[in-house]
Amino acid sequence: MVAAHSQAEARRSGARGPAVMDAILQVSPLAIHLLDLDGTVRLWNPAAERLFGWSREDVLGHRAPWATSAPWALFNRHLEQTSQGLEPPSLELELHRRDGTALQVELWAAPLPASTGPAQCLAMLVDITERHRDEAHRRLLSEASEVLGSSLEQDATLEHLARLAVPTCADSCRVFLEEAPGEVRCVVSAGLEAREPLAADGHSVPDEAAVSRVIASGAPALHAEPSPWLGIPLAWPGQEGAALVLTRAGRAFDARDVSLARELARRASLALDHARQYHEARQAIRAREEFLAIASHELKSPISALQFQVQNLRTALERSPDTVPRERLHRGLDLVGRQAKRQAKLVDALLDVSRIHAGRLELNLEPVDLGALVREVAERFERERTGAGTHLTLTLPPEAHGHWDRLRLDQVLTNLVSNAMKYGEGNPVQVALSSTEAHVRLDVRDAGIGIAPEHLPRLFHRFERAVSGRDYNGVGLGLWIVREVVEAMGGHVTVSSELGVGSTFTVVLPRARG
Ligand code: ADP
Repeated sequence: MVAAHSQAEARRSGARGPAVMDAILQVSPLAIHLLDLDGTVRLWNPAAERLFGWSREDVLGHRAPWATSAPWALFNRHLEQTSQGLEPPSLELELHRRDGTALQVELWAAPLPASTGPAQCLAMLVDITERHRDEAHRRLLSEASEVLGSSLEQDATLEHLARLAVPTCADSCRVFLEEAPGEVRCVVSAGLEAREPLAADGHSVPDEAAVSRVIASGAPALHAEPSPWLGIPLAWPGQEGAALVLTRAGRAFDARDVSLARELARRASLALDHARQYHEARQAIRAREEFLAIASHELKSPISALQFQVQNLRTALERSPDTVPRERLHRGLDLVGRQAKRQAKLVDALLDVSRIHAGRLELNLEPVDLGALVREVAERFERERTGAGTHLTLTLPPEAHGHWDRLRLDQVLTNLVSNAMKYGEGNPVQVALSSTEAHVRLDVRDAGIGIAPEHLPRLFHRFERAVSGRDYNGVGLGLWIVREVVEAMGGHVTVSSELGVGSTFTVVLPRARG
C-alpha cells in the first residue's frame, strides 16, 4: 500500500522514483534500515552508519547488530501490532553503538508485504539519547529538591546525596569530608556496592591525595584515566572542606555530567547549611534554657544567703545595739560582701555573653606589665587561698610587658586562678609567666581533679562543664570568656589535663597586635 502510493506520487510528480528514493536515503537525518524478518540487513543508510558506527559493508547481509534478544522481541511485537493496523505509537528502545556505549532510539517501523518480494520491514530510528538524559537530569533535580530537604541532619543529607547521584550521575558516589588540611575521610558511599575502582597499582581511584586536591582547588576535576571519575567540591558553612566523588565503569564524564553534579552539589550544600542552622538554633535554644535555669538558680542562692545574713545582723543589732560582738559583725559583713561579689561576677559574665554575642567586645589596648597584674590578682585571692590552705607559687620573669586590655586580662587571670583554686582541691597552684621577643606565655597549673579527655574539646564553649552543679558551683562561662578575650587580643588558650592528676591552662599572647 505504502509502496503503491509512493510510486503513484512519483509518477504524478514526474520524478525518477529510484533516484529520489536513493537521494532520500542518503540525506535523511533519520537512520533507515530495511530488514528481512529474521533481522538480516538489506539497507543501511549513512545516518544509520553515523548513529551506530557500523558501515553498510559491515552489516549488509548480516543480522542487524541490534537484532539481539530483548530489543528484537520488542521490535517484532511492535511490527505485529502495526501490521494488524493497531498503529501503536513509535517504539523506544535502548540499543548499543559499535563502541559499546548505550543509545536510546525512537523507532518507527513498517512491514513490507511479501507480494512485492520477500517479507521485509522498514525501520526508521532517531537518536533520543540526549532527550532521555535531559529528562533524567530534570527528574533527578526535582527529586533532589524533595529528598535533600526532607532531613535536617547532616549525616542523613549526605546519605541522600550519595544515593541520589546513582545511577543517573554515575555508577558510584562517595562523599569525603576533610578532617585536617590534606586529610580526608569517606563518610558515605553508594552504588557498585560502593566498590572503589582500583588503579593498576591497586590504589583506589581517586586516591585521598587527589580528593584533597579537588577540595583545595575548589573546582571540579574531571578524569578519564585509568577509569573515569569526577570530583566536585562541596562547601557549606561550618565544614572546612568536602567533596563528592563520582565514578563510572564505562563512558567518561562530560561537561553536562559536570554541570548536573555541580547543581546536585549546590542543592546539597544548601540543604546541609539548613541542617547546620537548624542544629545551631536547637543548640542555642537548649543552651538558653539551660542557662536560664542555671542563672536563675545561681542568682537566687546568693540573694537568699544575703537576705538571711542581713536579717540575722539586723535582729542582733535590734536586740542589743551596743553589745553585738565586733567579730560577729565582721563575719556577717564579710559573708554579705562575698555573696554580693559572687552576684556581681555572675551578672558581669551574663553581660559578657550578650556583648560577645553582639560582637561588642571592645578592647582598650594600653601598655600592661603582666607580671605586676599577676601579682595583683594573686593578692586578691589571698584570703580565699589561705582559707582553702592552697599554696600559690608565682614564677615571674623580670619583664613581661605588652599592649593589651588590662581589665580583660585581669578577667582572664582571675578566671583561670579561681578555677585552679576551685578545682584544685587545696593542692598547690602555680602561675608562671615566660616571654620571648614577640609573645608572653602564661601557665596556670593545679594538681586537682583534672579533666577527662572526652570533655577537653568542649570546655572552652559556652555553658560547658565537666562537673555537676551539685559538686561545684558555676555556670560554665569562665573559660569561654577567657578564650574570647584571648583570641580578641590575637592569642590562644589551650589546656592539658589528666583526670585525678591536675590541669594546666596555657595562654599565649602576642605582645602587640600585628
Ligand atoms: P565554671 O567553673 O563556672 O563551671 P568554666 O568555664 O570556668 O566554668 O569552666 C568550665 C568547666 O571546665 C568547669 O565546669 C570544669 O568542669 C572544667 N574546669 C575548668 N577549670 C578546671 C580546672 N582547673 N581543673 C579541672 N576542671 C576545670
